[in-house]
Amino acid sequence: MKIGVLALQGAVAEHIRSLESAGAEAVAIKRVEQLDELDGLVIPGGESTTIGKLMRNYGFMEAIADFSAQGKPLFGTCAGLIVLADQIEGQEDAHLRLMDMTVARNAFGRQQESFETDLDVKGIDEPVRAVFIRAPLIKKVGSSVEVLSTYRDEIVTARQGHLLAVSYHPELTDDYRLHAYFVDMVKEAAAGKA
Ligand code: GLN
Repeated sequence: MKIGVLALQGAVAEHIRSLESAGAEAVAIKRVEQLDELDGLVIPGGESTTIGKLMRNYGFMEAIADFSAQGKPLFGTCAGLIVLADQIEGQEDAHLRLMDMTVARNAFGRQQESFETDLDVKGIDEPVRAVFIRAPLIKKVGSSVEVLSTYRDEIVTARQGHLLAVSYHPELTDDYRLHAYFVDMVKEAAAGKA
């Protein structure tokens, strides 16, 4: 089981550590050729406009669309969630447009730029510690998207088949259960193909 972390910008090393804690082999991905060896891919937090620009420059848009079309799981966290979304509020263009959802960037405003909270996440027994940093929110989802958690009635965790997205930074805590959840998705997808 090998899972990549897109390493163009953002919190890469922390995701690698969390994936390894969850029992997967994890590698930083800088070139599209590396995708061939992977069973799943994490798109980390950072700055979505920058990540999107670098993805376009290095050929990752088509390569990740193809990766997803093969049924290989993707996990977007914070900026990574924005990169997966079909629509971004107030912007003409989105990035990968793989997940049927509309997101709002920096949705918590200045008063609440960053904070931590405990979240109930469907499929995970005890609440998950979530770190929000200039976080996006999911404003609207299509019928194929399952909402896994909300914070103050707003969607912050969602899944669409082999695609998982969270508004926050699960890699910045010692709690690796969301990574374990993703590793399970990757295992299931790989088993389904075998
Ligand atoms: N605010 C960032 C964006 O819009 C995301 C922040 C993050 O990934 N921590 O891309």
